Amino acid sequence: MKENALREQIAMIGKSLYDRGLAHGSAGNISVRLADGWLMTPTNSCLGRLDPARISRLDSSGKLTSGDPPSKETFLHIAMYQERATASAVVHLHSVHAVAVSCLGHVNPDDVFPPITAYAIMQVGKLALVPYFPPGDPALADAVGKLAGKHHAVLLANHGPVVAGSTLDAAVNAIEELEQTAKLVLLLHNRPTRLLTPEQVSELNRRFPN
Ligand SMILES: [Zn+2]
Repeated sequence: MKENALREQIAMIGKSLYDRGLAHGSAGNISVRLADGWLMTPTNSCLGRLDPARISRLDSSGKLTSGDPPSKETFLHIAMYQERATASAVVHLHSVHAVAVSCLGHVNPDDVFPPITAYAIMQVGKLALVPYFPPGDPALADAVGKLAGKHHAVLLANHGPVVAGSTLDAAVNAIEELEQTAKLVLLLHNRPTRLLTPEQVSELNRRFPN
């Protein structure tokens, strides 16, 4: 896809996420890989009101070459791209149910969600929990980088999800499935639940590797 079309797509998807309450205020950011760098949503921008022409353009070292200054969370995106050669897009949200799950105690940090639906396993896979660090702390990028090779979706503790995809559509679909799964996990809290069996999970992973 040409760069201008990608800029339009970022703005369209940002508005869609904002209109459905998956992003609020200036929270959340979207990036797309280019042949020679990245497009990144600007710092303090609202995903619901992005101007495609002002989206930040970064070179392959992460330096701003045009547009507004990039999100302060750019380093999270670059940490994902560095470990995932096939990733073409990264989306990060502070969506309410995923953030709620990111604050829960006693979750499995290697696989946060219990196996409740096939689509969560197919699109999110094993969601890893990244330990808490203050916003902007370089240790957060290191922690994401350590997990990103094995996980295309990670959940920052007490913060929110970061998801990489082979296309922007794939990354957005996966982070929406993640948010939906977080909502279901909270709805099912303390209710007797029929989980998928390990055999059913293995079968899904075999048929739909992610
Ligand atoms: Zn954030």
